[in-house]
Amino acid sequence: MKRKYITIVAAVCALFVTSCGGGWSAAEEELINSSRMSRMRVTTVDNEADSLLLRSECLPLTAREVASPIFGRLVASMVESVNDPENRGVGIAAPQVGVLRRVVVVQRFDKAGTPFEVYVNPVIESYGEEWSVGSEGCLSVPGLRGEVRRATSITLGWRDPVDFEPRREVIEGFTAVIFQHEIDHLGGVLYTDRADSVNEE
Ligand code: ZN
Repeated sequence: MKRKYITIVAAVCALFVTSCGGGWSAAEEELINSSRMSRMRVTTVDNEADSLLLRSECLPLTAREVASPIFGRLVASMVESVNDPENRGVGIAAPQVGVLRRVVVVQRFDKAGTPFEVYVNPVIESYGEEWSVGSEGCLSVPGLRGEVRRATSITLGWRDPVDFEPRREVIEGFTAVIFQHEIDHLGGVLYTDRADSVNEE
């Protein structure tokens, strides 16, 4: 009787893992799978449903979710989306492809070859003392640019997308600005909220 019960529980758990991709919701899995490594539609503030997503708080990822193939598909699609030749960006956050999870892809202009890298559960642990104003745009806010005040250096904490180990690094310059912009997205904040002025491109 007990063994039968355990078998049933194991079967239900297996079903749950299969249907939810190791913690991902069925809706997330469907959206991510539909992209199949190609570009995902970028959410924009001029679409009512998208604008609600872009104003939402994102959930952190667990080790199990990051180990799931769903995660690999999501980040591959995010890289494709930010590299769209018709609408290229220097960083992208998961809510910009409709997924309310704490993951960003940032182009590391401070590294040789300026690679796009993946950061899970990124947190700005501290800001440097120096701040400066620079011009920013956003794939989700088409046709506008704004002047935004940002720290010129940050201490970033995150989880490694491969082994989920905690990482920390001091990041400076334009790359630090990109991180501040992308991590804002995970809390439903857009650069236009922080901008001194916003103008048409
Ligand atoms: Zn943005």
